[in-house]
Amino acid sequence: MEQLMLFPDMAVPDARAPETITWNLWHGCTKVSPGCQHCYMYRRDESIGKNPAVVQKTQAFPLPTMKLRSGPFKGKYKVPSGSLIYTCFSSDFFHPDADEWRPDAWRMIRERSDCSFFMITKRPERIMQHLPPDWNDGWDHVTIAVTCENQWAADRRLPLYLSLPIRHHSIMIEPMLSQVNLRPYFSAHRSGSGRCLIESVSVGGESGPDARPCDYAWVMDVRSQCIQNAVAFSYHQTGARLIKDGREYHIPREQQHSQAHKAHLDIQGTSLLDTIPAE
Ligand code: SF4
Repeated sequence: MEQLMLFPDMAVPDARAPETITWNLWHGCTKVSPGCQHCYMYRRDESIGKNPAVVQKTQAFPLPTMKLRSGPFKGKYKVPSGSLIYTCFSSDFFHPDADEWRPDAWRMIRERSDCSFFMITKRPERIMQHLPPDWNDGWDHVTIAVTCENQWAADRRLPLYLSLPIRHHSIMIEPMLSQVNLRPYFSAHRSGSGRCLIESVSVGGESGPDARPCDYAWVMDVRSQCIQNAVAFSYHQTGARLIKDGREYHIPREQQHSQAHKAHLDIQGTSLLDTIPAE
C-alpha cells in the first residue's frame, strides 16, 4: 500500500545528552611487549575457551553510524552528537589483521566528526601507513594514544609516535611496570607556542591474579614530570599490587579505581582521561 504523505513528519530537536561509550569494532589481538603479558582480553577469552589471538570484526562494527528506527528521534544516529567514543578496547586499532576493515572504520569516524574518538595503540610504527587519505595533519576529533608500560617501551615508541601528524597525543602508562622518564620527550616535542605535544598522561597499575607490582613512587614521579611541563595527568587505577612507602598492598579489583581516585592526584585537563571505562 502506498504510504500516506498527508502531514509531513515534524522534525524533533535532538535534545539527547552526549554519552561516553566503548566501540569495540574488532576483537582479538597478538602480544607485542611486556605490557601484554597479562592482557585482560586474553584472560577473559581463555576463560571461556575462545582463542584471543584471532582478530574478528564484531557486531558493533557499524555502531557510530547506526540510526534509530523508531521513537521520537527516529532517523537520528543511535550515538548522540557530542559523545566520547573509546575505540578498540579488546584489540589494537592498528593490528595488521584488521587492515581490511580499517578504511571503513575511518569512514565512520570521519562521518561522526560531531563526536570525539579516543584510541590506544602499542603499534605506533603502523599508524602512518594506515591513516585515511584526507588525514593531513590529523583530525581534531580523534586522539591517538600510545601505551608505554616501561622505559623500554617509551624509548622504543615515543620518538616515532611524537613525529606523527596527530592532533591530540596522549600517553598511557598502564600497566606501569617501571619508573618512566618522559622528560626528554616533553622537552623535545613542543608546538610553536611552547606547549608540549603530549597533552595528557594516564598511569595505572596492573590488575588480575598474576599482577606485577606498581610502586607509588613511580606514579608520583611521572605526576611531577607532568606538573613541570603543564601536561594533564590522571591516576587511573592502583592495580592489584601497590607498593607505597616500602609496604606492599593487595587491592581488591572493585577498589582499584576508587582507591586511585581517592589519592586525588589528577591534575588539570584530565576530564577526558577520567572517563575511561573500567575493564
Ligand atoms: S596490544 Fe593490548 S589488546 Fe593486544 S595483546 Fe597487548 S594488551 Fe592485549
